[in-house]
Order: sequence, then C-alpha cells, then structure tokens
Amino acid sequence: MEVLDRRPSAKAPAEWFTGDVWWDVYYAGEEPSRARLNLVRFAPCARTDWHSHALGQTLHIVSGVALVQARGGGIIEARPGDTIYTPPGEEHWHGAAPDAFMEHLALWEGTGDPDVPETVWGDKVTDEEYNAPRTPAR
Ligand code: MN
Repeated sequence: MEVLDRRPSAKAPAEWFTGDVWWDVYYAGEEPSRARLNLVRFAPCARTDWHSHALGQTLHIVSGVALVQARGGGIIEARPGDTIYTPPGEEHWHGAAPDAFMEHLALWEGTGDPDVPETVWGDKVTDEEYNAPRTPAR
C-alpha cells in the first residue's frame, strides 16, 4: 500500500475549455493500468469543448448543477449523485450551469497506444449550443 503524493491543482487549457476550469489528478495509472481519475471543477458557464474518449468516460457529479450533451441529443441537467456514461467515440461536452459552480469526478482510460489519443478534441461549444433547452436527468 502507498499514500500517493498530492498533485497540485492545474488550470485546464483554454485550448480545450471555455471559462475557468481546474482539475486535480487523483490517479493516472502506469501500464498495464490505464485508469485515469480526475476531479474537475467548473465555474458558472464553464464547459469543455466538444470531444470524445477512445474508451468512453464516466462522470459522477459531486456538487452543483451539470450540463451534459451528446452530439445529436439534448442537453441533460445532472445533479450531485448522478452518474453519466459516454461510450467510446461518442462526441459530447460537459460543464457547469450558468448560475452555479459544478464539480464532477471523471473516470476514463488510456489507450495503451501512443499513436491513439485517449481524448479527441473538436469545436468549441457555442453560446447558442450552451443555452439550448435542457431536460433534467431524472
Ligand atoms: Mn468527456
């Protein structure tokens, strides 16, 4: 057993995110483990760009109000305790509602192949996309 070093919180790059987003890396497995676990904190209105994960991703909402959307679907409003799964290759975004901070755990996996990225980044989520109507997760 080992108590892992705490890594400093890091600001998410503006290249891939809109608004203020910070993460804590809790676990980044070394081969043969490919598990990754981050806590991600979004300021109001902050969100990821459109992206997909080679092996999918599970998000667990810890606090605040989360907005999540898969390409072609509507925006889902998720609350603390909700868990959202996006399958491999499904384009999506996630972020905070306009009026509340949001924190989620993000669990995903590396591909084990340096030529195959674990996350593929796409377009920014426009204000028009972000402000579209939403449906409660439950
Ligand atoms: Mn994602």
